[in-house]
Amino acid sequence: MFRAEDYVKVRDLEEAYELCQKRSSLVVGGMVWMKMTSLTKRVIVDLSGLGLDEIEETEDGFSIGCMCSLRQLEVHEGLNRYFGGIFKECTRHIVGVQMRNCATVGGSIYGRFGFSDVLTCMMALDSYVELYKGGRIPLAEFAARPVSGKERDILVRMIIRKDGRKAAYASQRNSQTDFPLIACCVSRLGHYWDVSVGARPARAQVIRILDDGHDSLGQLAKEAAEHFTFGTNLRGSAGYRKALAQVYIRRLMESLTGRSVSKG
Ligand SMILES: Cc1cc2nc3c(=O)[nH]c(=O)nc-3n(C[C@H](O)[C@H](O)[C@H](O)COP(=O)(O)OP(=O)(O)OC[C@H]3O[C@@H](n4cnc5c(N)ncnc54)[C@H](O)[C@@H]3O)c2cc1C
Repeated sequence: MFRAEDYVKVRDLEEAYELCQKRSSLVVGGMVWMKMTSLTKRVIVDLSGLGLDEIEETEDGFSIGCMCSLRQLEVHEGLNRYFGGIFKECTRHIVGVQMRNCATVGGSIYGRFGFSDVLTCMMALDSYVELYKGGRIPLAEFAARPVSGKERDILVRMIIRKDGRKAAYASQRNSQTDFPLIACCVSRLGHYWDVSVGARPARAQVIRILDDGHDSLGQLAKEAAEHFTFGTNLRGSAGYRKALAQVYIRRLMESLTGRSVSKG
């Protein structure tokens, strides 16, 4: 069971940052994940009084505060309209509505969990993490960093640029609300595909491939799946995951282009 001796609802980010520099302190989101651990902390730092629970849409993009819930992503009209419903699709299988009302975007991205649908989804977009001290960095760069207790920054918000890309998302689960066995997000901008695959079971990575019109979507999906490594755990084998990834990548590409699989 997770234990904490004290709780501070901070007045600003500087106070949160200072408190978090001690190993015995921890910033928390919805605590949905933390409560499953057996950590003991002296102080937990709550950001819920800082107005970081809004999704703001501008002409250029979306700004998603770290305290937004997964449910907010799921039902946000602007996000889902612009990105073809991928935020609804990537969240709707996560446990249940009550849980999604509590789990936060900050906790989901900062945690960089291997099984994360949300990380997989955002990785295929032009997305950035805004850290209080570290500034704005591409999500793919942040996701590649090892999760370490020494890293004591605060994820303030996510920025997703509207760059005109189309995107589609799919996951497969052994049962409806289980962790995903594989998670794929594909986006298309110009002649490029960005393909993100998570739950391999390692954390999501994204690759970019050129579509010059010479290869069928089946060939492109095969090429994309070859870029990733896959592992085995109790949910499925590496070989099964790779086969699923290839099929889902192709289907997502088809759904975005209307091009048929018949070429291979
Ligand atoms: C039973 C269960 C099943 C789940 N299934 C899925 C699933 O199928 N797919 C999926 O994508 N996710 C799944 N999740 C994960 C869930 O969606 C959230 O990602 C997770 O709960 C973390 O969000 P939180 O708000 O609870 O974070 P917390 O538990 O509060 O924090 C998690 C970590 O993030 C850090 N943190 C939180 N906020 C910040 C911040 N602003 N800045 C810096 N660090 C921060 C904390 O210090 C901690 O290390 C599941 C979780 C549970 C408990």
